[in-house]
Amino acid sequence: MSIRDVSQLNNLAHSLDPLNMIKMAYDEFGAKINFATSLGEEDQVITDMVAKIAPAIEIFTLDTGRLYPEAYTLMAKNKAKYAHLNFKTYYPDNQAVEQMVNTRGINLFYESIENRKFCCRVRKVEPLQRALKNVDAWMVGLRRDQAPTRGKLEAVEWDESNNKIKFNPLYNWSLDQVRDYIKINNVDINPLHALGFISIGCAPCTRAIKPGEDIRAGRWWWENPNQKECGLHNNPKRP
Ligand code: SF4
Repeated sequence: MSIRDVSQLNNLAHSLDPLNMIKMAYDEFGAKINFATSLGEEDQVITDMVAKIAPAIEIFTLDTGRLYPEAYTLMAKNKAKYAHLNFKTYYPDNQAVEQMVNTRGINLFYESIENRKFCCRVRKVEPLQRALKNVDAWMVGLRRDQAPTRGKLEAVEWDESNNKIKFNPLYNWSLDQVRDYIKINNVDINPLHALGFISIGCAPCTRAIKPGEDIRAGRWWWENPNQKECGLHNNPKRP
């Protein structure tokens, strides 16, 4: 019998470790769940877990066209290492990108929050909607202590923006737990992490952080911390 009620799934998930939460999600949704990776440390951990416990899950990346070269190297490495996994890449609509760049400029995001959110919408949110079109649930590598906007993250949530159930298998893990898993399981990561990059997104919008700086300080550093979401993970019910 299906237990697709979000609070039931969330209660169940609270008793499971991340690996078994991924298994539970796959058992429940089968081909109707996919996993979004932006190739960060958390995403690499989940990719490794998917390879071990639920290799049929589609693993998709949104290639915004502005990623660091190191991200593409890691994508290629993943494909070679986990050859049995179902990797997919989604791209922004070429006409929308052309129109945006031709009217607002190549680096529009530095000029206003509105421009930055517009760029994220064109390069990330629209492709995400296509990636999620045929699933009922998706899985991501968010953690509570990544940002002020994520402090009340749950294991399983209702994603109102996309009308899907969302699984956060690492919701209560610390960065140390993520790094321990990477070390013990020999997981490949983006070499930029060793240079002080914590959260790695598009190249023009990500920088390394200094010791003591907040984890998300390296993303959209010219904006207020409470506005730093790109539209992929908005949850109006979660403060
Ligand atoms: Fe555009 Fe920056 Fe958003 Fe990437 S992170 S989609 S470059 S605004």
